[in-house]
Amino acid sequence: MNYQELIGKQAQFFNSNQTKDLAFRIKHLKQLKAIIKSREGQIYQAISADFKKSEFDTYTTELMILYAEIDEAIKHLVHWSRNKKLDSNLASFPASSFIQPEPLGVCLIIGAWNYPFLLSLGPVVAAIAAGNTVILKPSEIAANCADELEKIVNTNFLADYFMVVKGGVTETTALLSEKFNKIFFTGSVATGKIIYAAAAKHLTPVTLELGGKSPAIVMADADLKLTAKRLVWAKFLNAGQTCIAPDYIVVEEKVKKELLTYIKEWIQEFKYGFENNNYVQIINEKNFHRLTSLIDTGNIYFGGETDLVNRYIAPTILSDVNFEDKVMEDELFGPVLPVISFTDLNVLITKLKSLPKPLSCYAFTKSTAIKNKILTEFSFGGGTINDALLHISNLSLPFGGVGNSGIGSYHGEAGFKTFSHYKSIVKKPFWLDNVLRYSPNTKSKLKWIKRIIGS
Ligand code: NAD
Repeated sequence: MNYQELIGKQAQFFNSNQTKDLAFRIKHLKQLKAIIKSREGQIYQAISADFKKSEFDTYTTELMILYAEIDEAIKHLVHWSRNKKLDSNLASFPASSFIQPEPLGVCLIIGAWNYPFLLSLGPVVAAIAAGNTVILKPSEIAANCADELEKIVNTNFLADYFMVVKGGVTETTALLSEKFNKIFFTGSVATGKIIYAAAAKHLTPVTLELGGKSPAIVMADADLKLTAKRLVWAKFLNAGQTCIAPDYIVVEEKVKKELLTYIKEWIQEFKYGFENNNYVQIINEKNFHRLTSLIDTGNIYFGGETDLVNRYIAPTILSDVNFEDKVMEDELFGPVLPVISFTDLNVLITKLKSLPKPLSCYAFTKSTAIKNKILTEFSFGGGTINDALLHISNLSLPFGGVGNSGIGSYHGEAGFKTFSHYKSIVKKPFWLDNVLRYSPNTKSKLKWIKRIIGS
């Protein structure tokens, strides 16, 4: 089946109105969860084959969140899809006003490789909950996971409703030339611009979940030992290949040495390694070479060991880094952590504001005033105070970027909204008709209108 034919069939299926039925949506969400559960073993094998990710990490960073996302949608779907009554105005009196969510239609979801199941199926859950049909294009880079996703979906769902299409740039480019009712993309800023441009040709709405350099700001008043522990965990989870990983640390100069010492101790304590099921490979040689060449440009404080055969890069700390250094140009997306020191928070915030808006920011401080200052003055997608990554796990919080780090958001109800259009409706009865609007337009009618409106 070519792409045009597939989209046509999905549009036809969508127009049959079957996906608008809430029982239909809930049935398929439950089915999706049951299939994933029944194939957990194959999922662990696929992800381990792609980059040696362990069962523990796959469950805690992908499946656990995915199951929660499905359960949340099933639990709240009736409430989310209800019409919401809103105030009516005098001009339409008597009337009732409401917004009615409706699915958008045929959706294209393009996934990234770094959390290949969560980042592909998470948006799918939202799209199905909202009543759409879905074509899912997983990342070709985690090839075994893409194969597994194809099995999970294409052997269990009707292609007219939900189908996986595998492929890389060529296939995605061909898909993007077609008209969809919604495109949801997770990936890099550079590809995000390509997606946005392609969608613009058809005026297709997009959600872009992109990346960026997310800073961790460490103030001198923070609990430095615990700060270091939390930052080490957040940075080296998935070997730093996490969109919201702290990309770099900016720490007050007077506590920099102490923080670095704790960071080193925690890395040693956690004993990162494939054999300990707490570390993963760099996804491919291209990224391995990109990261090792960056390490070579910096001042290694700790780590730095690499092994091309196993695509292994040890947790690596670069100290004495400046904003002008090569490691500070692009998102690192790997286990390399530059540490920059600062003395004046105002100067730091001015510098951060001159850079593209990041997906996340982490501030470590006991001071409410400093926390408020950072939250008020610095724009970023979302974050966690005195910890890292945790905001992504709370499905009550919309997840997404701002500026260069993305457009739109999802998770929980935010995902439902992302895949819905809200029709605004005014409903009038027949028992009363306001004659003031009809011709002839007399002076006395205008006087009455002004008196009623009050301005
Ligand atoms: P990527 O942009 O290379 O690829 C993402 C998807 O786009 C893949 O499915 C790929 O096949 C497709 N693609 C790549 N080049 C394309 C092109 N020229 N035309 C059309 N399609 C193309 O990103 P990646 O390497 O898979 O992921 C890493 C990036 O994603 C990082 O920047 C990271 O921060 C970001 N990311 C963001 C989130 C988020 O939720 N905001 C989550 C994970 C990753």
